[in-house]
Amino acid sequence: MKDMILGKSITIPFGKGAKTVEVFDLESEIFTYSKQKGSGECSYSLTVFCPKCSDTHEYNSKGHVWKSKWIIEDKDYSFQVVYSEDEDGETFAKCSKCDFDLRDEYIYGSVDEKPTPVGDLHQVSITGVSYADGCFVMPLDSFKKAIMEGYKRKATLFATVGSMSYKIHWQAYSNPDNIVSKDGKVFLRKNVWKQA
Ligand SMILES: [Zn+2]
Repeated sequence: MKDMILGKSITIPFGKGAKTVEVFDLESEIFTYSKQKGSGECSYSLTVFCPKCSDTHEYNSKGHVWKSKWIIEDKDYSFQVVYSEDEDGETFAKCSKCDFDLRDEYIYGSVDEKPTPVGDLHQVSITGVSYADGCFVMPLDSFKKAIMEGYKRKATLFATVGSMSYKIHWQAYSNPDNIVSKDGKVFLRKNVWKQA
């Protein structure tokens, strides 16, 4: 015997039908219709879709603008829209996949812009650095740890020696000529460092 679920509420996604508490897909064809466009068939939406999840626009490198694709296919649309209520009690449509508020105007291309990293994402520090005989000396372990973190992304490494901060660029610490390893310690000449 199946458990009876009483008073269970469900969210019926926009474009889905519900039978008791079962959500089922409606025929997807009702969301679009196609029309001949040039030599192809373009699919047009009959209802709201998420502009962010849909693949209806493309970047035109000549004009540096995002334009509607000449031919849009059914599969380019994302109709995963649900209704939600905002703080003011107003019902609005949003995408259930990405939460895009459909009242907002979507700027095409805005998700594709990756922020340009400025400098290092986070500082990689070498700990336990001291000065001796024209070199900065550090435990091999802490040097290895910093290298592991910083080497791949060519990060600048930072160290505090006394009350001063110093940095060393990838070009310098990746050059074996600059590194002397002795007795579990690593020596890097002071002149390959810069004051940070
Ligand atoms: Zn979306």
